[in-house]
Amino acid sequence: MIRDFKQTGNPEEIRVCCPRCGDTKYHLYINIRLKLFHCFRCNYSGKYKEDLIDEVLLLKTKKEVKKEQKSYLRIPIFNVKGTYLWKGIENVWYKRGFTLEDAKNYGILVNLNLCSLSIPVYDENQQIAFYVERFLYPKDLKYLYPSNIKVSNFLYNFNRINGDFVILTEGVFDALAINVSFKKDVAVALFGKNLSETQMSFLVKKNGINKIFICLDRDALKESLIIQNKLMPFKETKIIFFDFEKDPADFMKNKGREILKNFLIKEVNYAN
Ligand SMILES: [Zn+2]
Repeated sequence: MIRDFKQTGNPEEIRVCCPRCGDTKYHLYINIRLKLFHCFRCNYSGKYKEDLIDEVLLLKTKKEVKKEQKSYLRIPIFNVKGTYLWKGIENVWYKRGFTLEDAKNYGILVNLNLCSLSIPVYDENQQIAFYVERFLYPKDLKYLYPSNIKVSNFLYNFNRINGDFVILTEGVFDALAINVSFKKDVAVALFGKNLSETQMSFLVKKNGINKIFICLDRDALKESLIIQNKLMPFKETKIIFFDFEKDPADFMKNKGREILKNFLIKEVNYAN
């Protein structure tokens, strides 16, 4: 169990205190890609077990979250191919059915400080307001939102909507799953199960939107009805339910884009 480490000049290499020789000055060097370690004090060396990488990344992430840096380093997903972050990309992005093309299309980057995917959220002026951070490894941390921003004042992906209907979802991955399946921007995300006054005014004021579909997680019937009641005086509304899947992102992960698309086309009565 590693409690603390120092980063060396090599991003793939860290230093910890050697558990073998009672070292207190971080003499044990670990290459987290090659999984090799060596203590320069007592020459203890060998190959580390697989989950060390997760352990190190969790610690690294927790350190960075506490710092809340403004100058995070973000790079395209493609650029981390072959590095120690790739396993996380596979789990969080590829295994959910998303592609490199999707990442490019939606401006999604890898945050090297937080070891996370950075999903940009735009304001009404088409400027990036903030990023939602989706962690690549740690199990007790999933998402991070900036602490100085009220996310309920934003609707994820609303800047790209230009059709005559919109589908409301809870999370950014739900909206993304629907949009990449449709090959068209029809879904937005609320960042939760509630529709704020600000979010509601975006939807009500936007010309051209005739119908609003509410597609929250399967467990959110009550919240769906509350949103429908709010919107009903202004727009035609309909709630979309899933029988088996937890949410749109899980639907795509388990059944694929084609089946999600066909299901939604039926629901929105949308002919392509
Ligand atoms: Zn040692």
